[in-house]
Amino acid sequence: MINRRNFLKKSIALGTGAALSRFPFSENKTHILTLSFDDGFKKSFYRIAEIHENYGLKACLNVIATGHFKSFNTDPQWMPREILGNFDDWNTLKQRGHEIMPHTWKHLNLTQIPVKKAKRNIDKCLAYFEKHLEGYSSENAVYNFAYNASTTELEDYAMQKVKAVRTGGWLLLKDKKVNPIPVNDASQRLGCWGYGPGFCDNYTEQEVNTFLQSEGGWLILNLHGLDNEGWGPVSTGYLDGLLKRLTKIEHLDVMPTGEVLRKWS
Ligand SMILES: [Zn+2]
Repeated sequence: MINRRNFLKKSIALGTGAALSRFPFSENKTHILTLSFDDGFKKSFYRIAEIHENYGLKACLNVIATGHFKSFNTDPQWMPREILGNFDDWNTLKQRGHEIMPHTWKHLNLTQIPVKKAKRNIDKCLAYFEKHLEGYSSENAVYNFAYNASTTELEDYAMQKVKAVRTGGWLLLKDKKVNPIPVNDASQRLGCWGYGPGFCDNYTEQEVNTFLQSEGGWLILNLHGLDNEGWGPVSTGYLDGLLKRLTKIEHLDVMPTGEVLRKWS
């Protein structure tokens, strides 16, 4: 019902009372899916971009500000520095039309460090993106918390500077699973879901199928690398087949988070 209620709310606000089927901005899309890829694996992210391009889609890619620094050493088991890309890569992919968004300063769990330091990490991350990613502006950005770990205070802090924050769905949505489709340009708290550390193909398949059979909304699945890269990887063949199938579904939009906010709000 979330979806329908939002439609109705917007109808009333516009004073149109338009029937759902004639709703002007929806293009009859009732379901939005974002596959939100984290961490910035160089090889995987180029391949993910290429697969999306093959189906006329834009990839949602979230990268760590300092992942390419020699000093970067967070979770080397899942994010070894040698396989992470740098801002030349991210600028290249952005120029090809993909969405590159901030995924923290150095991938710390901000709920486990002093609040003051956590806020400084958010500031440093956004400043780095402003300086090194062409065409980026924080006011249109989605800040993606590492480990999808946040507190209301940290979300509020980030939302003073960015358009939206993405964090754990379990923190915001509980058993609802989906975010409402945005109806205005207010700042957003977005909840996402993921699975790991093993392959997440089966999990993704199940979540997407359940979502497609539901009344709709905006499902954000948090993925990482392809095949042997990253925590909870998705296999290349599975991702390719999934996007091929999904782009044939008329009532579904597959797009990056920032683009959803631009299009729908
Ligand atoms: Zn991450």
